[in-house]
Amino acid sequence: MVKTWDQLEEFQPTVLKMLKNSLVKNRVAHAYLFEGIRGTGKREIGLLLTKALFCTSVIDGFKPCEACNNCRRISNGNHPDVHLVEPDGLSIKVDQIRSLQAEFSKKGVESLKKVYLISHADKMSVSAANSLLKFLEEPNPGTTAFLLTEQPQQILPTILSRCQILAFHPLSPQVMIKQLVENGVAPAKAPLLAQLTNSLDEAQKLNVDEWFAQAQKIVLKLYEVLGKNPLEIMVSLQADWFSHFKEKEQIHRGLDLLLLIFKDLLYIQLDKQEQIVFIAENERLKQFALKTSGKRLSDQMSAVLDAKRKLEKNMNPQLMMEQLVLKLQEGSSFV
Ligand SMILES: [Zn+2]
Repeated sequence: MVKTWDQLEEFQPTVLKMLKNSLVKNRVAHAYLFEGIRGTGKREIGLLLTKALFCTSVIDGFKPCEACNNCRRISNGNHPDVHLVEPDGLSIKVDQIRSLQAEFSKKGVESLKKVYLISHADKMSVSAANSLLKFLEEPNPGTTAFLLTEQPQQILPTILSRCQILAFHPLSPQVMIKQLVENGVAPAKAPLLAQLTNSLDEAQKLNVDEWFAQAQKIVLKLYEVLGKNPLEIMVSLQADWFSHFKEKEQIHRGLDLLLLIFKDLLYIQLDKQEQIVFIAENERLKQFALKTSGKRLSDQMSAVLDAKRKLEKNMNPQLMMEQLVLKLQEGSSFV
């Protein structure tokens, strides 16, 4: 799905304001480095600016029209003067940069302009980075480079010094919720998704993911059985949890959901209902909130965070969960 200038402006207002000024004043840099975590719109904005450079009917001096032949081909990834370099396996290899240079030593196929985007630029091998450095030192007029990275600290300082660096900040949950609802996500589901990820794409995938829908049910059920006897909860772990949350990433997801339940219960106790994310479960959560205390909830949240750290250190997930639920039961009538 291609996003327009106006849509992307909601994500990254500061970045787009800068880029708009450069376009209007005809002062586009030879090389940009976009840094920010996944899902902050680095690639989309790189392509947007590329379109602005090639567009044959630019609006107001900066907005690509999204309709001309050039705009359309860039959106579809098949403009002959726009090149995207991505890691080949684990790294970007020197041959990939060399073939880019060979391509750029020729004239533009259709114009004097050429653009290249290097995704995960921090993954360049040392020789690839040195090769790129020479390229950046002698920029061809009409050439624009976009280096995209989640880890700018891993890029050679000599490369950084030749780029204009723009920081991409994660979307605020409010903006994220608004965007999700505009994209057809139910308003009752958007707040939970916005808490779990900074990436709009990932949130939209989760929204229609069967595994994730089931995960929410299992986590809520786990919370419910915490008030029962330890045997019952071990049975529930065996029956539902272990078979659903297998990979490390999935277990983290499950623990994050559990954490959000505790948070919601705290919000209910603090009378901040508008903050809760399990909106569809509101009534059920209100009942749970009556039976617990703020102190207990914050102890339980610490226990979940502690479990996440143990998981990171590769503790056996089964043992980790068994210890966690016993810890979570402390303070219930059975302990
Ligand atoms: Zn256009």
